[in-house]
Amino acid sequence: MSRVLVIGCGGVANVAIRKCCQVDGVFTELCIASRTKAKCDALAEDLKGTTKTKITTARVNADDVRELVALIKNYKPDLVMNIALPYQDLTIMDACLECGVNYMDTANYEPEDTDDPEWRAIYEKRCREKGFSAYFDYSWQWAYREKFEKAGLTALLGCGFDPGVTQAYCAYAKKHEFDEIDTIDILDCNGGDHGYAFATNFNPEVNLREVSAPGSYWEDGRWIEIPAMSIKREYDFDKVGHKDMYLLHHEEIESLAENIPEVKRIRFFMTFGQSYLTHMKCLENVGMLSTTPINFEGHEIVPIKFLKALLPDPASLGPRTKGKTNIGCIFTGRKDGREKTYYIYNVCDHEECYKEVKSQAINYTTGVPAMCGALMLLTGKWTEKGVHTVEEFDPDPFLDALDKYGLPRSETHEPVLVD
Ligand code: NDP
Repeated sequence: MSRVLVIGCGGVANVAIRKCCQVDGVFTELCIASRTKAKCDALAEDLKGTTKTKITTARVNADDVRELVALIKNYKPDLVMNIALPYQDLTIMDACLECGVNYMDTANYEPEDTDDPEWRAIYEKRCREKGFSAYFDYSWQWAYREKFEKAGLTALLGCGFDPGVTQAYCAYAKKHEFDEIDTIDILDCNGGDHGYAFATNFNPEVNLREVSAPGSYWEDGRWIEIPAMSIKREYDFDKVGHKDMYLLHHEEIESLAENIPEVKRIRFFMTFGQSYLTHMKCLENVGMLSTTPINFEGHEIVPIKFLKALLPDPASLGPRTKGKTNIGCIFTGRKDGREKTYYIYNVCDHEECYKEVKSQAINYTTGVPAMCGALMLLTGKWTEKGVHTVEEFDPDPFLDALDKYGLPRSETHEPVLVD
């Protein structure tokens, strides 16, 4: 029996909320709060009569700590699930601390305005010291560790698929398969086709920023940064087939390097089709990916926000997308003195997801782990206080929940390795 406040009502939140409503006896009351209340009301209406969960809705601007505190104090939830945007992570964490409530999210903090001089100065120092230049990193949220510990609260960071399930796969490999892990390759393949020449699978602003940034990986205790999309490999994915994939920077590399320190190399690859890459390069070259406002005919516009308005809403891709995703981790290392390899992954079908929750597999593979992470916190399976990423918790009950609620694992001990 618990009360949960979900902040955000976009593609991922829609799936997470629908899945919460499928779990008997845990998510007894849910409040869906977001900037546009009409979206929360529409979802609540759609769920009416299909679930025992008592759903209410609210409007909140999650950039405003006072508004959040007022809402949390009024609703008195056991957990706040932040499924808005990474821009709101810190304000929601502040509000949770003030109200004494556990927190979770699906992506680590990044600022909305990367030209803000105060943020920029800290960012540039971090780039010099750490050696990677992504706009997002864990330092902002790790800075809350002591505050959450002292308050006796838990903040669970990045509980989607990647980050999220990929780290649970790493914890599982460490617990059950290896004495020592040498290398981790995280492979994220979307073999789906939505029929558009160009569209992003989740929030376009967050997605395009991530993909157009330099890539980086962890090797022998340091970051190696490379120009965007400059390391390409081909891989034959189970149930999907051959795809080109590119090395990207990704947030879980940072926490895995800290939490499994013996690992010599951690890389992240994501598949992209040629059409997507050509469009993105062109948009970048003409300045459409910029977050710096420009004056256009007397109006101030942010190019990437304008582009977001032109692109298909990721939520609208659901009914059109066919094919499967395949996301997982390949490990090399040793067990009982012998060299071994291991690959654990999930295959998810876009059309099956749409049939179940009216959303494609990208939202599904993020929303289901968010619900399962909340389930771990609410049922006392994950109780560690402080600010933690998924690999720091016991992977077994989480992976069991994923198996049960729609993202079952597959595994092989003889994977083809990525060179
Ligand atoms: P959407 O853009 O579809 O939804 C974001 C939601 O947050 C919208 O409902 C939006 O409201 C709301 N929101 C935005 N700003 C505010 C604000 N200031 N106050 C209140 N509500 C606000 O995003 P997605 O659902 O695609 O992504 C959600 C999160 O999941 C993101 O953080 C994303 O990075 C993360 N993600 C994580 C993945 C993983 O595997 N870990 C994979 C994919 C996404 P409005 O309707 O008014 O715009």
